[in-house]
Amino acid sequence: MKMSHELDRLRQEVDEVNVKLLELLSKRAELAQAIGEVKKAQGIHRFDPERERDMLNWVSEANPGPFDDKTIRHLFKQIFKASLDLQQEDHKKALLVSRKRKPEDTVVHVGDLPVGNEQKTVIAGPCSVESEEQVREVAQALSKQGVALLRGGAFKPRTSPYDFQGLGVEGLRILRRVADEFGMKVISEIVNPSDIEKAEQYIDVVQIGARNMQNFELLKAAGSSQLPVFLKRGMSATVEEFLFAAEYIVSGGNDQVMLCERGIRTYEKWTRNTLDISAVPLLKQESHLPVFVDITHSTGRRDIQLPVAKAALAAGADGLMLEVHPDPAVALSDANQQINIPQFEAFMDEIRQHGRIQRSEPVLG
Ligand code: PEP
Ligand code: MN
Repeated sequence: MKMSHELDRLRQEVDEVNVKLLELLSKRAELAQAIGEVKKAQGIHRFDPERERDMLNWVSEANPGPFDDKTIRHLFKQIFKASLDLQQEDHKKALLVSRKRKPEDTVVHVGDLPVGNEQKTVIAGPCSVESEEQVREVAQALSKQGVALLRGGAFKPRTSPYDFQGLGVEGLRILRRVADEFGMKVISEIVNPSDIEKAEQYIDVVQIGARNMQNFELLKAAGSSQLPVFLKRGMSATVEEFLFAAEYIVSGGNDQVMLCERGIRTYEKWTRNTLDISAVPLLKQESHLPVFVDITHSTGRRDIQLPVAKAALAAGADGLMLEVHPDPAVALSDANQQINIPQFEAFMDEIRQHGRIQRSEPVLG
């Protein structure tokens, strides 16, 4: 009984000390903020390592125990760091792509086509632009289904330098001509920063592919482009790295960014990549940007694309990307994973039952 009384008294004393510590910490924080303002006005760098070194020495010298010096220095280091964080500018506390900065969803406008509203957007087309006829055949099928965003690779980042590298600018011209016939929008990958400006006359959305997610010069060039950007997650990028990549574009002045989860590299061999489905709700939670799932490159096989697409929509994706080719067996790239036109039509019929899929009025060119 007596012991427990003693314990209560000591605990009460600790509680009082906690409050006093808190008051002192808050007072210190306010002083640090005031110092930050003075430094800002004088244009002095916030972090002053010499001053921090002096303060650590003084607290060590003044340390009466029972904590040893190492512990005291560690505790004070944390206090210094917290104070420095208080002086950080807003964009370092929360990214521009973060929901903390902008709680409402960003709707990306691809011309007159809104992406990221309550309707789900489908982006489809061949892996690579191979010929005008090939693109036209696919575009016609997409248009019939009310799909307005036509994809096709003109600059292909291929693993082997001996594989088909794409038709380059001629591929972009083909995409533009065909898309115009059907009243569609064009999305195509750009790999070279200096090509972005040139591409603006042919395409409506710049795709930055997985292999270039951390090509910072390309991200910066996309940040100063007038076009919306479709940014794919790097093959081994964390969600945080993915968001930082998007931040490069948005902080460069272009807030029209769509994110695309396209699978990451794991040890699994039965799929080409491993679709990180948890990235979808995570990205939606952390960021206000629209989120897509590429069901083709994430799986690398046709037989599970439909359930994967359903999972993506159920997880909150704003849209899907998939590859469609008139005759996948003879495709110049990704022959094993593209679906043909009847398969695409069947896919669209099914997927419409699992989400409000955007439907543009077909223009039959
Ligand atoms: C593509 O979409 O054409 C492509 C190459 O995909 P990823 O960059 O995701 O590999
Ligand atoms: Mn492909």
